[in-house]
Amino acid sequence: MSASAELRLERVSKRYDGVTAVDDVSFAVPPGSYVVLLGPSGSGKTTVLSMLGGFTSPTEGRVFIGADDVTAMPPALRPTATVFQDYALFPHLSVAGNVGFGLSVRGMAKRAIAGRVDEALRLVGLDGFGPRAIGATSGGQRQRIALARALVTEPALLLLDEPLGALDLRLRRQMQDELRRIQRSQARTFVHVTHDQEEAMAIADLVVIMNRGRIEDMGPPDRVYERPRTRFSANFLGESTVLEGTVAKAADGRLAVDTPCGRLVVEGNRARGDSVAIALRPEAVRFGVAGPGEQALGVLRITGQVFQGSFLRVTGTGASGFTLLAKVAPHTVPASSDPAPIAVRDSGLILLED
Ligand code: ADP
Ligand code: MG
Repeated sequence: MSASAELRLERVSKRYDGVTAVDDVSFAVPPGSYVVLLGPSGSGKTTVLSMLGGFTSPTEGRVFIGADDVTAMPPALRPTATVFQDYALFPHLSVAGNVGFGLSVRGMAKRAIAGRVDEALRLVGLDGFGPRAIGATSGGQRQRIALARALVTEPALLLLDEPLGALDLRLRRQMQDELRRIQRSQARTFVHVTHDQEEAMAIADLVVIMNRGRIEDMGPPDRVYERPRTRFSANFLGESTVLEGTVAKAADGRLAVDTPCGRLVVEGNRARGDSVAIALRPEAVRFGVAGPGEQALGVLRITGQVFQGSFLRVTGTGASGFTLLAKVAPHTVPASSDPAPIAVRDSGLILLED
């Protein structure tokens, strides 16, 4: 099997008439990573993937796979394979015909193709499905066939565009595990596009968060979730309360910030008088008087509660009129409708960059 390659984008932009689809994007990925490009519809994910696959050429910037500058290289010469969102299977070919298509185009001998096709079908859990007609397969099976067709060519880089978008929730969860298992077993680099943040959290080694053609943040799932860098990330990856404030004191990498919830201390470096924004993770908030490692947020009048299984999603209004979101265990919510004190863990207060 060919070695997996490092992937690198250097200041890549793609402009169409009047539309900047991708705006000065740079990132580098270590070999064997599962990368997820995460962002809302129209944020430029497919365009980035398409520039990796060679279907779209950048207006500016360069694309490297391993040591090679592939910016101007046509798709067929790149060490990449793509699983398209609609699978793009050939309805007139059998399952085996579809999976082996790329190999027969390359002129590989029939017997060798058959062996490789069987192996790829086994890998995706479709052992023995080779002779079947595409019309006689389910949506979930077609997703696996498309994956087998891409894997059979042993690409250094596998590109997947919303590959699970057409599947129901249960199958999607199952396929997330399978994709992860296959990627691990082969130690290839996968680049997977999705708008589903839970999917990104579940499978990625590295999440690249895109918004309006730019990278908002990039890092391991736990870091980008727990310590969002920007307002956009703080709200796209789960919900946050964002508090606007003014730096009252700055010393030793810590700031005292005056906010509608009172004076809060966060880690960060800014100057006194600066306007800043602080994200508050709803899981870090609880009802009660602040104890060690916590800060008081004043009192909250609860305005809404939604039961979400293991926790309650509570919205409320503070004395100075700010609204706040908390996700707390059901038995911890005060029974009385009087405003109740709330506190936040120190680590749940995050200074945003924008
Ligand atoms: P995503 O995959 O995140 O939904 P896309 O990469 O498909 O986003 O698109 C990013 C932006 O670029 C969108 O505004 C889209 O309309 C625009 N765009 C994409 N492809 C083209 C094209 N071929 N011509 C003009 N605009 C395009
Ligand atoms: Mg897309």
